Amino acid sequence: MKNKSTIHFDIITGFPKLLRGPLTESIIRQAKKKKLVSIRVHDLRKYTHDKHKTIDDTPYGGGAGMILKPEPIFECIDYLKSKRKYDEIIYLSADGEKFTQSLANELSIKKNIMLLCGHYKGIDHRVRERLITREISIGDYVLTGGELPALVLTDAVIRLIPGVLGDGESMLTDSFQDGLLDCPHYTKPAMYHDMKVPDVLLSGDHKLIASWRKSKRISKTEERKKS
Ligand code: SAM
Repeated sequence: MKNKSTIHFDIITGFPKLLRGPLTESIIRQAKKKKLVSIRVHDLRKYTHDKHKTIDDTPYGGGAGMILKPEPIFECIDYLKSKRKYDEIIYLSADGEKFTQSLANELSIKKNIMLLCGHYKGIDHRVRERLITREISIGDYVLTGGELPALVLTDAVIRLIPGVLGDGESMLTDSFQDGLLDCPHYTKPAMYHDMKVPDVLLSGDHKLIASWRKSKRISKTEERKKS
C-alpha cells in the first residue's frame, strides 16, 4: 500500500490551554483521526525546576515586559530533538518571514515541524540564534503570544495534506493557491428574500459554469489588486 503523507507537529508553549479547542475540532480533528497529521503540545512549565514553574524573567538592560527564559526552552527543544529529526524548528515571531499560501505549500510536504510560541516581550535571543531554523510572522501586527499564529500556520498547512479535505479539488481553487482569488459561492435556496443565485449556476452546463467561475476569479483578483 502507498504510504500516506503525514506531518508531525510539536508545539511548545507556556499556555497550552490556548491551543486545545482549535486542535480538537473540524478539519484538524478529522486529519488526526485519518492519521494524516499528529500534533503534540508541550507545556514549557514542565521543563522548569523551581517551585513556581517560572518560564519568564525581567530583561537585562531594564525596560518593560518579561522575557521567556532560555533554560526551559533549551531543555524542551533538546529533549524533542533527541527523539526525532526536524525539518524545521520555527519560532513564531512578528518580525519573521511573512506567512503566505506558498509557504504553507512548502511546509505541507515536510515530515516533522517544531513550533515555538513566544509570549510577553518575546524570548531570550540565544534561543533564536542557536536553535531556531526559521522565523515566521502571520502579519504586520503584534499579538499577545505565538499560540494563535501557531494555530494559523498548522491549520493552513494541514488542509493541504492530500486526503485531509473530503473534496481534494476544493483547495486547488481556494484563493492564492494558483494566483487567483476564489469566486463567489452560493447554496440553496435559489431565491432568498429578493436575491437570486446567478442563472448560470442553475443551468447544469458544467463547461459554462467553469468558465463563469474562472472569469469571476480573474475579475475579483484584478479588482482587489487595484485597491
Ligand atoms: N516584542 C515583540 C516585537 O515587537 O516583535 C512582540 C512580542 S509579542 C507581544 C509576544 C509573542 O507573540 C512573540 O514572541 C511571538 O511569538 C508572538 N507573536 C506576536 N505577533 C506575532 C505575529 N504577527 N506573527 C507571529 N508571532 C507573533
